[in-house]
Amino acid sequence: MGQRGKEIIKIDLSELITDLNKAYADEWLAYYQYWVGAQVAKGPMKEAVIAELNEHAADELRHAQMLSERIIQLGGTPILTPKDWYSHTNCGYLEPSDPFVKKLLEQNIEGERCAINVYEKLIEKTKDKDFVTYNMAIEILEDEIEHEEDMESLLEDISFINLK
Ligand code: FE
Ligand code: FE
Ligand code: MG
Repeated sequence: MGQRGKEIIKIDLSELITDLNKAYADEWLAYYQYWVGAQVAKGPMKEAVIAELNEHAADELRHAQMLSERIIQLGGTPILTPKDWYSHTNCGYLEPSDPFVKKLLEQNIEGERCAINVYEKLIEKTKDKDFVTYNMAIEILEDEIEHEEDMESLLEDISFINLK
C-alpha cells in the first residue's frame, strides 16, 4: 500500500494484520465445513439444505479472498499453510461426523454466530480508524447475518415435518 494509504490508518498495523489472519483462518475452515457438509448431508429437505450449504461455502471462500487482499494491501502475508488455520482460528471447526441435516444446520449456526461476533469486534475496532477494513468487515458481517438466518429458517422448516 502507498504512503498516504498507510498514514490514514490509526490503529496498530501488526495487530490488525493478526486479527485479519485469524478471520482468514475462520473463513477457510467455514468454507470447508460447508463444502464437505454439502457432500455428506442426509435427511429431510436434503436438496434445499445442500443448495444453501454450497451457496454459503462460495460466500466464505469469497470472504477469505477479501481478507487476503486486505492483508496483502496492509503489508502482511495471508496464512500460507492450512495447518496454521487451527492455531489462528477464532471459531474453530465443527466436523460433520453426523451427516443428519439438522445436526449440520446446528453446527453451521454455531459457526455463523461466532463469525458475527468476530466481525462485530473488527468493526468496533476499526471504526473511525481504518475506513477500508471497516467497510470490508461490514460487508462480510451482512453476509454472516444472512447465513445465520438462512440456516435458522431451514431448521425451522424441517421442524414442521411430522407435525401434521
Ligand atoms: Fe464468512
Ligand atoms: Fe458465513
Ligand atoms: Mg444463503
